[in-house]
Amino acid sequence: MIETDVLIVGSGPAGSSMAALLSTYGVNNTLVTKYRWLSDTPRAHITNQRTMEVMRDLGLEQQCMLYATGQKLMGNNVFCTSLAGEELGRVATWGNHPHSFARHRLASPCEMNDLPQNLLEPIVFGAACGRGTRARLSTEYVSHVQDETGVTATVRDRMSGESYPIRAKYLIGADGGNSQVAADVGLPMQGKMGVAGSINIIIEADLSKYVAHRPSVLYWVLQPGSNVGGIGMGVVRMVRPWKEWLIIWGYDINQPAPEVSEEFAKSVVYALIGEQTVPVKVKSVSTWTVNHMHAQEYSRGRVFCMGDACHRHPPSNGLGSNTSIQDAYNLAWKMALVLKGKATPKLLQSYNAERAPIGKQVVDRANKSISEFGPIFEALGLLSTTDPKLMKANMESRKEATPLGAERRQKLREAIAYKVYEFDAHGVEMNHRYRSDAVAPDGTPEPAFAIDAELFHQPTTWPGAHLPHVWLEKDHKQLSSLDIAGKGRFTLITSIGGEGWIEAAKRASADTGVEIATVTIGPGCDAEDPFGEWAKAREIADDGCLLVRPDTYIGFRAHSGSPTASADLAAALNSILGK
Ligand SMILES: Cc1cc2nc3c(=O)[nH]c(=O)nc-3n(C[C@H](O)[C@H](O)[C@H](O)COP(=O)(O)OP(=O)(O)OC[C@H]3O[C@@H](n4cnc5c(N)ncnc54)[C@H](O)[C@@H]3O)c2cc1C
Repeated sequence: MIETDVLIVGSGPAGSSMAALLSTYGVNNTLVTKYRWLSDTPRAHITNQRTMEVMRDLGLEQQCMLYATGQKLMGNNVFCTSLAGEELGRVATWGNHPHSFARHRLASPCEMNDLPQNLLEPIVFGAACGRGTRARLSTEYVSHVQDETGVTATVRDRMSGESYPIRAKYLIGADGGNSQVAADVGLPMQGKMGVAGSINIIIEADLSKYVAHRPSVLYWVLQPGSNVGGIGMGVVRMVRPWKEWLIIWGYDINQPAPEVSEEFAKSVVYALIGEQTVPVKVKSVSTWTVNHMHAQEYSRGRVFCMGDACHRHPPSNGLGSNTSIQDAYNLAWKMALVLKGKATPKLLQSYNAERAPIGKQVVDRANKSISEFGPIFEALGLLSTTDPKLMKANMESRKEATPLGAERRQKLREAIAYKVYEFDAHGVEMNHRYRSDAVAPDGTPEPAFAIDAELFHQPTTWPGAHLPHVWLEKDHKQLSSLDIAGKGRFTLITSIGGEGWIEAAKRASADTGVEIATVTIGPGCDAEDPFGEWAKAREIADDGCLLVRPDTYIGFRAHSGSPTASADLAAALNSILGK
């Protein structure tokens, strides 16, 4: 019998990240995945700052940036009648509007970027295997049973057809949107699968002349009459600038998924390009469905699910892979501490409490973003008729010197601008706050969001929020406040006069066996705060402290020094550890 501490099913963003994190934290783990290799199509691209912070913590940031298309080339979200045809409008996206760019720079040491999933996965999976994960490709999870002490999974070698058991203390279902693990363990799911049908066509074609002057990852093409439902909206999605593309086209979800011939695929491609002479090579064609479903709980006993197994939604807002990686970042340190006997299994329950609300938020947000195309269609007069000729005439009327033309122009500008909620929702990506037993409250109420919580990042050190990023300096080197935290350990941050907290952290660490790094920030301290930005961000006095969890979320906060610092910190840490 093969034995392992953690058996991970799936090598997508969730499974590979979980494996890389567990191996980095020194936890024995085995990963099985169904196919002979990792994702063979680009799928997820948008890699947000929170994900890049995880990659930075894993030491993989530079490798990711080497393969990523940079943020500057992601900046225009174009609506048009075809790439060669008329442009209907644009919205600045993914942190490229100057205001948004500034907010991105202020929020994180990392840059958001466009990194196709088939390039991200080998980086993370490679790190996992290099650091200790034992991986078995072409190996399919079949079933499992769990008891008091562990889980016995049956897997099948797809080359020999032979089935065999693997015994683990915990089983991770990171097996994607059709998760067998989630189904077998009976996770309570809410919502609907198969809300709409999509066809993916991956092509090689040099489209520079249509796009290089308005660089973007997405070009939305509206062609009335060319598709189910009449409106006919297709997407030309950059894979690599500007020679590899993913074309997304709809199919009627009430019919079976179509067999897509190369001839049909090319007809769609040429219609969206709007020009027939560009050489196009179709690389692959596949179909997928838009889903609106989330798990209300992510675990049952010793089985924990993550990623698309728990949250299934369309690619709008680019949140799928990002959220999957954050699931892993949340669970990995908890599982490591439990397996090392430093925390009780109660700590693992906080995974549900912390991640399930975010999964629901992400699923709802991504689906809402689809519905927010409606006002664009309405402004163009596409919803008042089903006749393609009338639709085209209505679109044309936006250019007329008439009250109706002016109204259409105004409404179209507003409707396109509103799409920032899909293409520049920095707050959706960055503002997560956790409420669970793995956070020790400090008695202060949760700070309200002063500006739109979906659009704008608003940092705070309120327990349960993410550690704010500011630039510090240490040994003549710039470093982020995030760089002093993470790495699988707790970090206590204080400043001048906070010696009592440092003593308390050392004692708590000795008592629990949990590593707590201590860092003072201020003049003459471990790290300098040259711009005074940390003093502004920390929301505590010099002699207060923050206890940062290994996933860089605040676990405990004290506003000032305390005569009972040791007892306060020990109580907070023990409650986080589920003791
Ligand atoms: C067209 C498109 C565009 C997208 N764009 C974005 C984007 O820009 N940003 C973003 O964040 N997300 C995006 N997504 C979503 C993203 O691809 C998913 O959310 C992400 O892949 C989920 O990761 P995962 O690890 O949970 O699952 P998956 O990536 O689906 O991985 C599941 C893994 O489990 C394995 N597996 C399945 N069943 C078994 C079994 N029985 N036994 C063993 N192994 C099994 C599979 O082989 C695979 O390795 C997009 C998706 C699509 C379709």
